[in-house]
Amino acid sequence: MSTASAHLSPDLVQRLTGRGRRFDAVQPPALGAHEYDPAEYARALAQVAAQPADTLSLYVHIPFCAGRCLYCGCNTTVTHDSARMDAYLDTLDREMAMIAARIDGDGDGNRDLLQVHLAGGTPNYLSEAQLSRLTEMLERRFHIVADTELSIECDPRRASAGQLELLHALGYRTISFGVQDLDPDVQRAIGRIQSEELIRDVYWLAREIGFDSINFDLIYGLPLQTEAAFTRTIEAVLELSPDRVACFGYARQTLDGAHQYAIDVHELPTNAEREHLFRYAVSRFTEAGYRWIGLDTFALETDDLAQAQAEGRLHRNCIGYTSMPSTHLIGLGAGAVGEIMGTCLQNQPDLALWQQRVDAGRLAVDRGHKLSDLDRRRRDALSHLICNLELPLAMASGCLDDEYKRLAAYAGDGLVDVLPDGLRVTEAGRFFLRELCTEQDAYFHWDRARWHFSHSD
Ligand code: SF4
Repeated sequence: MSTASAHLSPDLVQRLTGRGRRFDAVQPPALGAHEYDPAEYARALAQVAAQPADTLSLYVHIPFCAGRCLYCGCNTTVTHDSARMDAYLDTLDREMAMIAARIDGDGDGNRDLLQVHLAGGTPNYLSEAQLSRLTEMLERRFHIVADTELSIECDPRRASAGQLELLHALGYRTISFGVQDLDPDVQRAIGRIQSEELIRDVYWLAREIGFDSINFDLIYGLPLQTEAAFTRTIEAVLELSPDRVACFGYARQTLDGAHQYAIDVHELPTNAEREHLFRYAVSRFTEAGYRWIGLDTFALETDDLAQAQAEGRLHRNCIGYTSMPSTHLIGLGAGAVGEIMGTCLQNQPDLALWQQRVDAGRLAVDRGHKLSDLDRRRRDALSHLICNLELPLAMASGCLDDEYKRLAAYAGDGLVDVLPDGLRVTEAGRFFLRELCTEQDAYFHWDRARWHFSHSD
Protein backbone atom coordinates (compact mmCIF):
# COMPACT_ATOMS: atom_id res chain seq x y z
CA MET A 1 0.00 0.00 0.00
CA SER A 2 1.44 3.38 -0.88
CA THR A 3 1.59 5.99 1.84
CA ALA A 4 -0.98 8.18 0.17
CA SER A 5 -3.42 5.37 -0.46
CA ALA A 6 -3.69 4.37 3.20
CA HIS A 7 -7.44 4.69 3.60
CA LEU A 8 -9.59 5.48 6.58
CA SER A 9 -13.32 5.70 6.96
CA PRO A 10 -14.83 9.19 6.64
CA ASP A 11 -16.28 8.75 10.15
CA LEU A 12 -12.84 8.22 11.63
CA VAL A 13 -11.44 11.20 9.72
CA GLN A 14 -14.26 13.38 11.02
CA ARG A 15 -13.80 12.08 14.58
CA LEU A 16 -10.07 12.67 14.72
CA THR A 17 -9.34 15.67 12.51
CA GLY A 18 -8.69 18.77 14.56
CA ARG A 19 -8.33 16.90 17.86
CA GLY A 20 -4.57 17.18 17.88
CA ARG A 21 -2.61 20.11 19.15
CA ARG A 22 0.11 21.76 17.09
CA PHE A 23 3.38 20.31 18.27
CA ASP A 24 5.46 23.41 17.62
CA ALA A 25 7.63 22.14 20.39
CA VAL A 26 7.70 18.87 22.25
CA GLN A 27 7.25 20.53 25.58
CA PRO A 28 4.42 21.99 27.63
CA PRO A 29 3.09 25.01 25.74
CA ALA A 30 5.13 27.93 27.02
CA LEU A 31 2.18 30.28 27.26
CA GLY A 32 0.36 27.82 29.49
CA ALA A 33 3.26 27.75 31.88
CA HIS A 34 3.26 29.65 35.15
CA GLU A 35 4.65 33.06 35.96
CA TYR A 36 8.30 32.59 36.51
CA ASP A 37 10.60 34.38 38.89
CA PRO A 38 13.62 35.91 37.08
CA ALA A 39 15.70 34.98 40.15
CA GLU A 40 14.94 31.31 39.38
CA TYR A 41 16.11 31.91 35.83
CA ALA A 42 19.34 33.49 37.10
CA ARG A 43 19.94 30.39 39.25
CA ALA A 44 19.30 28.10 36.28
CA LEU A 45 21.75 30.12 34.16
CA ALA A 46 24.34 29.79 36.93
CA GLN A 47 23.88 26.03 36.78
CA VAL A 48 24.43 26.14 33.00
CA ALA A 49 27.66 28.03 33.74
CA ALA A 50 28.72 25.26 36.10
CA GLN A 51 28.34 22.68 33.32
CA PRO A 52 30.60 23.95 30.52
CA ALA A 53 30.47 20.65 28.64
CA ASP A 54 26.69 20.98 28.08
CA THR A 55 25.76 22.00 24.55
CA LEU A 56 23.97 25.29 23.99
CA SER A 57 21.79 26.73 21.21
CA LEU A 58 20.09 30.10 20.80
CA TYR A 59 16.68 31.06 19.48
CA VAL A 60 16.57 34.75 18.54
CA HIS A 61 13.20 36.37 17.93
CA ILE A 62 12.88 39.39 15.63
CA PRO A 63 9.30 40.63 16.06
CA PHE A 64 8.89 42.96 13.08
CA CYS A 65 7.14 42.66 9.73
CA ALA A 66 6.30 45.03 6.90
CA GLY A 67 2.64 43.91 6.90
CA ARG A 68 0.43 41.39 8.63
CA CYS A 69 -0.49 38.19 6.76
CA LEU A 70 -4.05 37.28 7.72
CA TYR A 71 -3.24 33.69 8.72
CA CYS A 72 -0.27 34.69 10.90
CA GLY A 73 -0.12 33.48 14.50
CA CYS A 74 3.36 34.81 15.24
CA ASN A 75 4.31 37.35 17.88
CA THR A 76 5.13 40.27 15.60
CA THR A 77 4.57 44.00 15.10
CA VAL A 78 4.02 45.84 11.84
CA THR A 79 6.38 48.76 11.53
CA HIS A 80 8.20 50.74 8.88
CA ASP A 81 10.47 52.45 11.36
CA SER A 82 14.04 51.28 11.04
CA ALA A 83 15.02 53.23 14.18
CA ARG A 84 12.62 51.03 16.14
CA MET A 85 14.50 47.97 14.94
CA ASP A 86 17.82 49.60 15.89
CA ALA A 87 16.42 50.18 19.37
CA TYR A 88 15.33 46.53 19.53
CA LEU A 89 18.86 45.44 18.65
CA ASP A 90 20.22 47.75 21.38
CA THR A 91 18.03 45.95 23.93
CA LEU A 92 18.81 42.54 22.46
CA ASP A 93 22.50 43.30 22.91
CA ARG A 94 21.87 44.11 26.58
CA GLU A 95 19.94 40.87 26.99
CA MET A 96 22.74 38.88 25.33
CA ALA A 97 25.30 40.56 27.60
CA MET A 98 23.26 39.66 30.70
CA ILE A 99 22.86 36.04 29.65
CA ALA A 100 26.48 35.64 28.50
CA ALA A 101 27.80 37.09 31.76
CA ARG A 102 25.79 34.52 33.67
CA ILE A 103 26.79 31.49 31.64
CA ASP A 104 30.46 32.15 31.06
CA GLY A 105 31.42 34.25 34.05
CA ASP A 106 32.76 37.36 32.35
CA GLY A 107 30.57 37.41 29.25
CA ASP A 108 33.55 37.46 26.94
CA GLY A 109 31.97 35.05 24.50
CA ASN A 110 33.68 31.81 25.37
CA ARG A 111 30.60 29.58 25.37
CA ASP A 112 30.42 27.49 22.18
CA LEU A 113 27.12 27.45 20.33
CA LEU A 114 25.72 24.43 18.57
CA GLN A 115 22.96 26.23 16.73
CA VAL A 116 21.60 29.76 16.28
CA HIS A 117 18.14 30.17 14.81
CA LEU A 118 16.77 33.58 13.78
CA ALA A 119 13.00 33.61 13.58
CA GLY A 120 10.16 36.07 13.94
CA GLY A 121 8.42 38.05 12.62
CA THR A 122 10.66 38.58 9.67
CA PRO A 123 14.38 38.44 10.50
CA ASN A 124 15.30 39.51 6.98
CA TYR A 125 13.19 42.66 7.40
CA LEU A 126 16.29 43.95 9.20
CA SER A 127 18.56 45.99 6.92
CA GLU A 128 21.90 44.58 5.81
CA ALA A 129 23.65 46.77 8.39
CA GLN A 130 21.30 45.50 11.11
CA LEU A 131 21.79 41.85 10.10
CA SER A 132 25.58 42.36 10.24
CA ARG A 133 25.27 44.06 13.61
CA LEU A 134 23.07 41.29 15.03
CA THR A 135 25.55 38.62 13.93
CA GLU A 136 28.48 40.60 15.34
CA MET A 137 26.59 40.89 18.65
CA LEU A 138 26.15 37.12 18.72
CA GLU A 139 29.84 36.61 17.94
CA ARG A 140 30.87 39.03 20.67
CA ARG A 141 28.70 37.49 23.37
CA PHE A 142 29.01 33.81 22.46
CA HIS A 143 31.46 31.59 20.63
CA ILE A 144 30.39 30.76 17.09
CA VAL A 145 32.60 27.89 15.95
CA ALA A 146 33.07 26.36 12.51
CA ASP A 147 30.40 23.74 13.25
CA THR A 148 27.80 26.14 14.65
CA GLU A 149 24.70 25.91 12.48
CA LEU A 150 23.33 29.38 11.71
CA SER A 151 19.81 29.34 10.31
CA ILE A 152 17.37 32.09 9.38
CA GLU A 153 13.71 32.37 8.39
CA CYS A 154 13.19 34.71 5.45
CA ASP A 155 10.30 36.40 3.73
CA PRO A 156 11.02 36.08 -0.01
CA ARG A 157 9.45 39.52 -0.59
CA ARG A 158 12.21 41.07 1.55
CA ALA A 159 15.11 39.09 0.10
CA SER A 160 17.60 40.49 -2.41
CA ALA A 161 20.81 39.24 -3.99
CA GLY A 162 22.84 41.54 -1.75
CA GLN A 163 21.06 40.43 1.39
CA LEU A 164 21.40 36.70 0.63
CA GLU A 165 25.09 37.12 -0.23
CA LEU A 166 25.60 38.97 3.04
CA LEU A 167 23.80 36.27 5.06
CA HIS A 168 25.97 33.60 3.48
CA ALA A 169 29.11 35.64 4.13
CA LEU A 170 28.02 36.03 7.77
CA GLY A 171 27.89 32.25 8.08
CA TYR A 172 24.18 31.42 7.65
CA ARG A 173 23.89 28.11 5.81
CA THR A 174 20.29 27.02 6.43
CA ILE A 175 17.61 29.31 5.05
CA SER A 176 13.86 28.97 5.13
CA PHE A 177 11.42 30.84 2.85
CA GLY A 178 7.70 31.31 3.53
CA VAL A 179 6.00 30.24 0.30
CA GLN A 180 2.58 29.13 1.70
CA ASP A 181 0.61 28.88 -1.58
CA LEU A 182 1.31 30.26 -5.04
CA ASP A 183 -2.29 30.65 -6.17
CA PRO A 184 -3.19 34.36 -6.66
CA ASP A 185 -6.73 33.93 -5.25
CA VAL A 186 -5.44 32.20 -2.12
CA GLN A 187 -2.76 34.87 -1.75
CA ARG A 188 -5.36 37.63 -1.91
CA ALA A 189 -7.50 35.79 0.67
CA ILE A 190 -4.56 35.57 3.09
CA GLY A 191 -3.18 39.05 2.41
CA ARG A 192 0.19 37.87 1.17
CA ILE A 193 0.97 38.51 -2.49
CA GLN A 194 4.18 36.99 -3.84
CA SER A 195 4.51 35.79 -7.40
CA GLU A 196 5.83 32.45 -8.50
CA GLU A 197 8.56 34.30 -10.43
CA LEU A 198 9.70 35.98 -7.23
CA ILE A 199 9.89 32.65 -5.40
CA ARG A 200 11.81 31.12 -8.29
CA ASP A 201 14.27 34.04 -8.48
CA VAL A 202 14.93 34.07 -4.75
CA TYR A 203 15.36 30.29 -4.68
CA TRP A 204 17.92 30.29 -7.49
CA LEU A 205 19.79 33.19 -5.93
CA ALA A 206 20.07 31.23 -2.67
CA ARG A 207 21.09 28.10 -4.56
CA GLU A 208 23.78 29.90 -6.57
CA ILE A 209 25.11 31.64 -3.48
CA GLY A 210 25.58 28.21 -1.93
CA PHE A 211 23.27 27.77 1.08
CA ASP A 212 23.58 24.18 2.31
CA SER A 213 19.90 23.68 3.04
CA ILE A 214 16.99 25.61 1.54
CA ASN A 215 13.59 25.09 3.14
CA PHE A 216 10.16 26.12 1.85
CA ASP A 217 7.17 26.48 4.16
CA LEU A 218 3.79 25.61 2.66
CA ILE A 219 0.38 25.83 4.34
CA TYR A 220 -2.65 23.68 3.60
CA GLY A 221 -6.18 24.46 4.73
CA LEU A 222 -6.05 28.12 3.60
CA PRO A 223 -9.11 30.00 2.33
CA LEU A 224 -10.05 29.33 -1.32
CA GLN A 225 -7.41 26.62 -1.49
CA THR A 226 -8.61 23.98 -3.92
CA GLU A 227 -6.94 20.74 -4.80
CA ALA A 228 -6.19 22.11 -8.29
CA ALA A 229 -4.56 25.25 -6.89
CA PHE A 230 -2.55 23.37 -4.28
CA THR A 231 -1.46 20.86 -6.93
CA ARG A 232 -0.02 23.70 -9.01
CA THR A 233 1.83 25.05 -5.98
CA ILE A 234 3.32 21.66 -5.18
CA GLU A 235 4.37 21.06 -8.79
CA ALA A 236 6.06 24.48 -8.93
CA VAL A 237 7.89 23.70 -5.68
CA LEU A 238 8.97 20.27 -6.93
CA GLU A 239 10.40 21.86 -10.06
CA LEU A 240 12.76 23.85 -7.83
CA SER A 241 13.60 20.94 -5.54
CA PRO A 242 14.28 22.65 -2.20
CA ASP A 243 16.10 20.48 0.34
CA ARG A 244 13.20 20.57 2.78
CA VAL A 245 9.52 21.41 2.64
CA ALA A 246 7.46 21.94 5.78
CA CYS A 247 3.75 21.59 5.03
CA PHE A 248 1.77 23.00 7.95
CA GLY A 249 -1.98 22.98 8.47
CA TYR A 250 -3.53 26.43 8.84
CA ALA A 251 -4.58 26.89 12.46
CA ARG A 252 -7.08 29.66 13.04
CA GLN A 253 -5.98 31.49 16.20
CA THR A 254 -8.30 34.41 16.69
CA LEU A 255 -7.44 34.50 20.40
CA ASP A 256 -3.94 35.55 19.43
CA GLY A 257 -4.70 37.94 16.62
CA ALA A 258 -7.90 39.70 15.63
CA HIS A 259 -6.52 40.03 12.08
CA GLN A 260 -7.45 36.37 11.57
CA TYR A 261 -11.12 37.38 11.65
CA ALA A 262 -10.47 38.94 8.24
CA ILE A 263 -10.28 35.40 6.86
CA ASP A 264 -13.77 34.35 5.86
CA VAL A 265 -14.46 31.00 7.56
CA HIS A 266 -16.83 30.11 4.74
CA GLU A 267 -13.89 30.14 2.35
CA LEU A 268 -11.92 27.61 4.41
CA PRO A 269 -11.76 24.00 3.26
CA THR A 270 -13.67 21.47 5.34
CA ASN A 271 -11.80 19.02 7.57
CA ALA A 272 -12.16 16.33 4.90
CA GLU A 273 -10.82 18.70 2.23
CA ARG A 274 -7.88 19.68 4.46
CA GLU A 275 -7.03 16.07 5.02
CA HIS A 276 -7.24 15.47 1.27
CA LEU A 277 -4.85 18.36 0.56
CA PHE A 278 -2.29 17.04 3.02
CA ARG A 279 -2.69 13.51 1.69
CA TYR A 280 -1.97 14.85 -1.78
CA ALA A 281 1.14 16.68 -0.56
CA VAL A 282 2.43 13.49 1.06
CA SER A 283 1.79 11.54 -2.11
CA ARG A 284 3.58 13.98 -4.41
CA PHE A 285 6.58 14.71 -2.19
CA THR A 286 7.23 11.06 -1.42
CA GLU A 287 6.81 10.10 -5.09
CA ALA A 288 9.34 12.80 -5.97
CA GLY A 289 11.93 11.25 -3.65
CA TYR A 290 11.41 13.25 -0.46
CA ARG A 291 11.45 11.43 2.85
CA TRP A 292 8.41 12.21 5.01
CA ILE A 293 9.78 13.35 8.36
CA GLY A 294 7.54 13.06 11.40
CA LEU A 295 4.44 15.22 11.26
CA ASP A 296 4.71 17.56 8.38
CA THR A 297 8.21 17.86 6.96
CA PHE A 298 9.66 16.43 3.75
CA ALA A 299 13.39 16.25 3.13
CA LEU A 300 15.54 15.11 0.22
CA GLU A 301 17.61 12.03 1.06
CA THR A 302 20.74 14.20 0.80
CA ASP A 303 19.48 16.54 3.51
CA ASP A 304 20.74 16.22 7.04
CA LEU A 305 17.22 15.76 8.47
CA ALA A 306 16.51 12.77 6.23
CA GLN A 307 19.82 11.21 7.21
CA ALA A 308 19.11 11.90 10.88
CA GLN A 309 15.74 10.18 10.68
CA ALA A 310 17.21 7.18 8.86
CA GLU A 311 19.87 6.87 11.57
CA GLY A 312 17.49 7.42 14.52
CA ARG A 313 19.15 10.79 15.36
CA LEU A 314 16.11 12.96 14.72
CA HIS A 315 14.88 15.26 17.51
CA ARG A 316 12.26 17.95 17.83
CA ASN A 317 12.56 21.11 19.90
CA CYS A 318 11.11 24.64 19.95
CA ILE A 319 12.75 25.29 16.58
CA GLY A 320 11.28 22.20 14.90
CA TYR A 321 12.95 19.01 13.74
CA THR A 322 16.68 18.96 14.24
CA SER A 323 19.60 16.57 14.00
CA MET A 324 21.52 18.69 16.52
CA PRO A 325 19.76 18.58 19.89
CA SER A 326 21.44 20.72 22.51
CA THR A 327 21.29 20.37 26.28
CA HIS A 328 20.05 23.94 26.65
CA LEU A 329 18.22 26.32 24.33
CA ILE A 330 18.20 29.98 25.31
CA GLY A 331 15.53 32.29 23.91
CA LEU A 332 16.51 35.90 23.22
CA GLY A 333 14.13 38.70 22.33
CA ALA A 334 10.48 39.47 23.01
CA GLY A 335 8.43 36.30 23.46
CA ALA A 336 11.37 33.99 22.68
CA VAL A 337 11.04 30.44 24.02
CA GLY A 338 13.76 28.22 25.40
CA GLU A 339 14.55 25.39 27.75
CA ILE A 340 17.38 25.30 30.24
CA MET A 341 18.08 22.97 33.15
CA GLY A 342 14.85 21.12 32.45
CA THR A 343 12.68 24.24 32.61
CA CYS A 344 10.64 25.45 29.64
CA LEU A 345 10.71 29.23 29.48
CA GLN A 346 9.27 32.13 27.60
CA ASN A 347 10.38 35.74 27.60
CA GLN A 348 7.88 38.55 28.10
CA PRO A 349 6.02 38.61 24.75
CA ASP A 350 4.97 42.27 24.93
CA LEU A 351 7.61 44.23 23.06
CA ALA A 352 7.47 47.35 25.24
CA LEU A 353 7.47 45.36 28.50
CA TRP A 354 10.33 43.15 27.33
CA GLN A 355 12.32 46.26 26.40
CA GLN A 356 11.56 47.97 29.74
CA ARG A 357 12.68 44.96 31.74
CA VAL A 358 15.91 44.40 29.86
CA ASP A 359 16.77 48.09 29.74
CA ALA A 360 16.29 48.16 33.52
CA GLY A 361 18.91 45.41 33.78
CA ARG A 362 16.45 42.61 34.58
CA LEU A 363 16.06 39.22 32.95
CA ALA A 364 12.93 39.35 30.81
CA VAL A 365 11.68 35.82 31.46
CA ASP A 366 7.93 35.83 31.95
CA ARG A 367 6.64 32.25 32.04
CA GLY A 368 8.26 28.98 32.98
CA HIS A 369 7.50 25.41 33.76
CA LYS A 370 9.97 23.12 35.49
CA LEU A 371 9.57 19.68 34.04
CA SER A 372 8.82 17.01 36.63
CA ASP A 373 10.19 13.50 36.18
CA LEU A 374 6.82 12.54 34.73
CA ASP A 375 6.89 15.54 32.36
CA ARG A 376 10.32 14.45 31.18
CA ARG A 377 9.22 10.86 30.64
CA ARG A 378 6.18 12.09 28.78
CA ARG A 379 8.24 14.50 26.69
CA ASP A 380 10.76 11.79 25.80
CA ALA A 381 7.93 9.44 24.82
CA LEU A 382 6.32 12.15 22.69
CA SER A 383 9.60 13.03 21.07
CA HIS A 384 10.26 9.40 20.25
CA LEU A 385 6.78 8.96 18.82
CA ILE A 386 6.89 12.16 16.78
CA CYS A 387 10.35 11.43 15.36
CA ASN A 388 10.44 7.64 15.07
CA LEU A 389 6.74 6.75 14.72
CA GLU A 390 6.94 4.22 17.50
CA LEU A 391 6.62 4.04 21.25
CA PRO A 392 8.68 1.34 22.97
CA LEU A 393 6.82 -0.27 25.86
CA ALA A 394 9.83 0.38 28.08
CA MET A 395 9.44 4.17 27.64
CA ALA A 396 5.84 4.04 28.81
CA SER A 397 5.68 1.34 31.43
CA GLY A 398 5.41 2.39 35.05
CA CYS A 399 4.29 5.97 34.45
CA LEU A 400 2.46 6.31 31.15
CA ASP A 401 0.44 3.11 31.26
CA ASP A 402 -2.93 4.80 30.69
CA GLU A 403 -1.60 6.84 27.78
CA TYR A 404 -0.10 3.70 26.28
CA LYS A 405 -3.44 1.90 26.58
CA ARG A 406 -5.28 4.80 24.93
CA LEU A 407 -2.81 4.70 22.04
CA ALA A 408 -3.05 0.91 21.78
CA ALA A 409 -6.84 1.24 21.43
CA TYR A 410 -6.25 2.88 18.03
CA ALA A 411 -5.16 -0.54 16.76
CA GLY A 412 -8.88 -1.18 16.23
CA ASP A 413 -8.96 1.76 13.80
CA GLY A 414 -5.81 0.59 12.04
CA LEU A 415 -3.73 3.55 13.22
CA VAL A 416 -1.18 1.59 15.28
CA ASP A 417 0.19 -1.92 15.40
CA VAL A 418 0.65 -3.36 18.87
CA LEU A 419 3.86 -5.39 19.05
CA PRO A 420 5.24 -7.30 22.04
CA ASP A 421 7.78 -4.57 22.79
CA GLY A 422 5.85 -1.46 21.83
CA LEU A 423 3.53 0.36 19.45
CA ARG A 424 4.25 1.25 15.86
CA VAL A 425 2.28 3.88 13.93
CA THR A 426 0.87 2.40 10.72
CA GLU A 427 0.89 4.12 7.34
CA ALA A 428 -2.74 5.10 7.88
CA GLY A 429 -1.89 6.29 11.38
CA ARG A 430 0.81 8.66 10.11
CA PHE A 431 -1.90 11.01 8.88
CA PHE A 432 -3.11 11.27 12.47
CA LEU A 433 0.26 11.41 14.19
CA ARG A 434 -0.63 14.78 15.74
CA GLU A 435 -3.82 13.31 17.21
CA LEU A 436 -1.97 10.21 18.44
CA CYS A 437 0.68 12.34 20.12
CA THR A 438 -2.04 14.35 21.79
CA GLU A 439 -3.02 11.20 23.70
CA GLN A 440 0.38 11.49 25.36
CA ASP A 441 0.01 15.14 26.18
CA ALA A 442 -1.07 16.11 29.67
CA TYR A 443 -1.37 19.76 28.61
CA PHE A 444 -3.84 19.04 25.84
CA HIS A 445 -6.93 20.36 27.58
CA TRP A 446 -5.45 23.76 28.13
CA ASP A 447 -4.04 23.83 24.67
CA ARG A 448 -7.25 22.79 23.00
CA ALA A 449 -8.92 25.92 24.30
CA ARG A 450 -6.32 28.00 22.56
CA TRP A 451 -5.90 26.48 19.14
CA HIS A 452 -8.89 26.62 16.88
CA PHE A 453 -8.89 24.56 13.77
CA SER A 454 -10.66 25.26 10.53
CA HIS A 455 -14.36 25.94 11.09
CA SER A 456 -14.30 25.70 14.83
CA ASP A 457 -15.13 29.35 15.41
S1 SF4 B 1 5.66 37.76 7.30
FE1 SF4 B 1 5.53 35.92 8.61
S2 SF4 B 1 5.61 36.70 10.71
FE2 SF4 B 1 5.16 38.44 9.38
S3 SF4 B 1 2.95 38.63 9.38
FE3 SF4 B 1 3.48 37.34 7.61
S4 SF4 B 1 3.43 35.23 8.39
FE4 SF4 B 1 3.45 36.60 10.18
